[in-house]
Amino acid sequence: MSDTVRRDSAAPFTTTVLGTARIGPRRELKRAVESHWAGRLDRAELETIARRLRREQWAQLAEAGHDSVPVNTFSYYDQVLDTSVLLDALPPRFAEIDDPLDRYFAAARGTAEVTPLEMTKWFDTNYHYLVPEIGPSTTFRLNPEKVLAEVAEASELGLPARPVVVGPVTFLALSKAVDGAGAPLERLDELVPLYRDLLTRLADAGVAWVQLDEPVLVTDAAADLGLRAESVYNALGSEERRPAIVVATYFGDPGDRLTHLARTPIEGVAVDLVEGSVETVAGTPGLADKLLIAGVVDGRNVWRTDLDRAAATLATVLGSARVVAVSTSCSTLHVPYSLDAEDDLDPNLRGWLAFAAEKFREVAVLSSALREGRAAQAAAFAESSSALASRATDPRLHNDDVRARLDAVTDADVTRGPAEQRLVKQQERLGLPPLPTTTVGSYPQTSAIRLARAALRSGEIDRAEYENRMKNEIADVVALQESIGLDVLVHGEPERNDMVQYFAEQFEGYFATANGWVQSYGSRCVRPPILFGDVSRPKPMTVDWITYAQTLTSKPVKGMLTGPVTILAWSFVRNDQPLSMSADQIALAIRDETVDLEKAGVGIIQVDEPALRELLPARDADKPAYLAWAVRAFRIATSGVRDDTQIHTHLCYSEFGEVIGAIADLDADVTSIEAARSHMEVLGDLDEAGFRNAVGPGVYDIHSPRVPGQDEIFTALSAALSSVGAARLWVNPDCGLKTRGTPEVVDSLTNMVAAAARLRESI
Ligand code: GLN
Ligand code: ZN
Repeated sequence: MSDTVRRDSAAPFTTTVLGTARIGPRRELKRAVESHWAGRLDRAELETIARRLRREQWAQLAEAGHDSVPVNTFSYYDQVLDTSVLLDALPPRFAEIDDPLDRYFAAARGTAEVTPLEMTKWFDTNYHYLVPEIGPSTTFRLNPEKVLAEVAEASELGLPARPVVVGPVTFLALSKAVDGAGAPLERLDELVPLYRDLLTRLADAGVAWVQLDEPVLVTDAAADLGLRAESVYNALGSEERRPAIVVATYFGDPGDRLTHLARTPIEGVAVDLVEGSVETVAGTPGLADKLLIAGVVDGRNVWRTDLDRAAATLATVLGSARVVAVSTSCSTLHVPYSLDAEDDLDPNLRGWLAFAAEKFREVAVLSSALREGRAAQAAAFAESSSALASRATDPRLHNDDVRARLDAVTDADVTRGPAEQRLVKQQERLGLPPLPTTTVGSYPQTSAIRLARAALRSGEIDRAEYENRMKNEIADVVALQESIGLDVLVHGEPERNDMVQYFAEQFEGYFATANGWVQSYGSRCVRPPILFGDVSRPKPMTVDWITYAQTLTSKPVKGMLTGPVTILAWSFVRNDQPLSMSADQIALAIRDETVDLEKAGVGIIQVDEPALRELLPARDADKPAYLAWAVRAFRIATSGVRDDTQIHTHLCYSEFGEVIGAIADLDADVTSIEAARSHMEVLGDLDEAGFRNAVGPGVYDIHSPRVPGQDEIFTALSAALSSVGAARLWVNPDCGLKTRGTPEVVDSLTNMVAAAARLRESI
């Protein structure tokens, strides 16, 4: 009885965020773990840095006026991996590593003896988590040490600590079955007692509120998610001795899953009111006695909040719940730390933005306005609306030429001649042998390339010298490909640090941050460019490099571009127009580049779309519309060239699933895809989807340093040949080579070319 009393008296909080980044404002954690891996930083020093980063983050939240502070959102690598450890669910191959932290990093990165866990995208963000493997031998057991230690650390500082743990439904829904085990989600019943145990221990540690993250509840990742969640949270809610529970949904609208949650005894729910809708909250009965954490500040994009609009949203949900707390829509893991680190931002742009630190303050302002009245925050509201007005009226947001051009795009502009006719014309122009051999674009990024880039940045060399050095790299790569005997060459992409940033830097309507780092996975961070205005391409971006490469060889050199969907997927995007409109604008800019390449005599142009599947919406109902605009954007980008110019595309994953029909609709002349790891199975799927154009199934896996033998490639190629026939088959590795070393690239490609030559004799 006394426990129930304690829970009821867990005063609801009003001001918080669902989680924070941990890599450090200056990427301190990245440097620390990498030094630790390299043996230059010992365990104690690593832990000291980690503790300091946690404290600084918590202190910042407390200072901003937050009355509940998320803990256990720190991670040395990944919060899903932390959850695998919490539940003792690491696969047996890591069991021999005694030391827990060594074992943890082995699961994340692999060792000479064991392969790491697989990595995949965290919902539709650019964060990657490590996929838990659930096999017949997995037996769950609770290891609560990390959570309890972080709770103790925060409590010592007198902070209102709210531990955050990935919830059981999401954990299992994101897991992968191995060794013939059934669907992981069928094992929910085994996790419930462990989570109950965890709740009790947290209560013993004095925790008043715990947050269980269930973002999977906004997706259609599995059937019956609502019912499953209801039964799990009924069980957890019935635990006598526990903190108050808030279940956090984010990255979309929970729909009727919220009704399921509301029926359980949990004390609170968090709802994403940026991507989700207020109607869902208003239409959900049973929230009246609960705490509603209203995510009105966008946790994953970089724009300053429209405070008026957010306040209006809060007003609409106010009557639905017992208490409304103000929060970010999701963890701020996905945005940079603070605008303070940006010294030379255009002052107008600065006013439009809010990174994590600024969002912490916005949350506090909105919460205060909700409780004390808006007058208490009049200055902040005035500032927000004047920033918004400046953004709305900035001429860079509306380029009439771009808009008029897009309005004038007709179906004819996104349609090329019939594919078979194109193929005949291209063959006449290019005269390629059967089973042409090529590569996907990049060659190893050598230290000479990195040094040249750094020297240009520091001013040690000028632009002309930098270009000379890049041309030397191109010449080396062309000579290398000639000597290996490839049929279609590339320039090797030495000038690109990144396949999106390189283009974003040259577009109007984009800007790059100086320190806007966000964690991509583990210690790896990216600095996504910010798309803020209408996009155009003032001048050619790649033509000089490609035409230079072409002067060095009589073999055709492929032009190399990134597609509109991928550029969007790896940027912060504007939130004042539909994504499809931004995609079309980028597509027009890419189209301009393809036309210029063609004019310069380039006969083959590749437009990469490795992120096509990444932007796929969480809900089935939204998928067809997305696929339609994504395909159309690609076709805007690639249909401005003549029929005898060959368009290639490259896609980066082997399980196409829901995007397979869209790939056929892209209507590229040649599609290179990852197939090595799925043993060419994808070719059958493509065929079923009606795909009839040429295809280059990746015949070996570039993600591993292993050099594939000639026979092995021959076997893969023979399988592909019997599946698609000689007239449609290309020969290439399964992705770009930039992360590999030159010696292994030479050996692998030599074997690939030899295998293709051998197979040619048989046709
Ligand atoms: N052309 C790019 C490269 O080779 C493609 C990269 C990718 O697929 N992610 O690096
Ligand atoms: Zn790829």
